[in-house]
Amino acid sequence: MTNDEMQGFMFTDMDIRGVHLRLDQGVKDLLDGQDYPAPVARLLTEMLIVACLLSANLKLRGHLSVQIRGAGPIKWVMAECRQLSNDPEQPFRVKGMAQVDGVVGADASFIELVADGRLIITIEPDQGQRYQGIVMADQGTLAECIESYFYQSEQLPTHIQLVSTEAGAAGLMLQRLPQTTVQEAQADSDWELVHALAASLTQHELAQLPAEQVLYRLFHEHQVQVFAPRPVLQQCDCSRERCGAAIVGLGANTVNEILAEQKAIIIDCHFCNSQYAFDKVDCHLLLEQDVLSAQVESALH
Ligand SMILES: [Zn+2]
Repeated sequence: MTNDEMQGFMFTDMDIRGVHLRLDQGVKDLLDGQDYPAPVARLLTEMLIVACLLSANLKLRGHLSVQIRGAGPIKWVMAECRQLSNDPEQPFRVKGMAQVDGVVGADASFIELVADGRLIITIEPDQGQRYQGIVMADQGTLAECIESYFYQSEQLPTHIQLVSTEAGAAGLMLQRLPQTTVQEAQADSDWELVHALAASLTQHELAQLPAEQVLYRLFHEHQVQVFAPRPVLQQCDCSRERCGAAIVGLGANTVNEILAEQKAIIIDCHFCNSQYAFDKVDCHLLLEQDVLSAQVESALH
């Protein structure tokens, strides 16, 4: 097991909630198999952290993804966090990847990496309506883009700090609750106070300190209720079954055309580098099963 976990918390006397995340092992596992230039690896790490932070506040079974599509050397960068159940024992699962095309300077800034980029946040519950929000990725950092996203889309003041260094990968998010139980003016001054305290946390402290020390260091003069931590795992959700379904989706004609030219259909997962091979026998079996299940379906309806 790893120490990667998400720690939610709430102020008992103020309408503000927060979440802290540590993702050292998950990031290491994900980047190990990849060959990203350092600035790309840093941004991908921050995207993974953001996907988790945003998932923490959603009581949702399903997927949340954060993507940026841009015209710089990063064409596409994407991180996804999945919750298979609301059971607090169950880990959040993350995956992510970046598509790089072009030269990445050793200290390329966020804006240089994703020039003219669009930030897309997608929430896909297992049941219910899919939601998508889009803003320009035109702030100086990813954290500022997410803050501005919340401000534009939900008018929710949000503070986000992200760190991705050799010393650690971590994030802290604070957010005003959508509904306040106190006077507006009081809620404003509570937020100013908590925001100022949070802003005093250094990158070094965020990278190194465990959640409880971060919360103590920032908010020890306030009443903070801490929820049970949730583990976070880096884990891809690709499978032979899903690849098989994709092949069936191509249709028998296309599959046969491909197999006339090559011995097998090979599917590479760009998230985890797994490779799935389907030879002629496999493909024909898949297509036959598909025809059979279509017949059963139509017999039942
Ligand atoms: Zn995979």
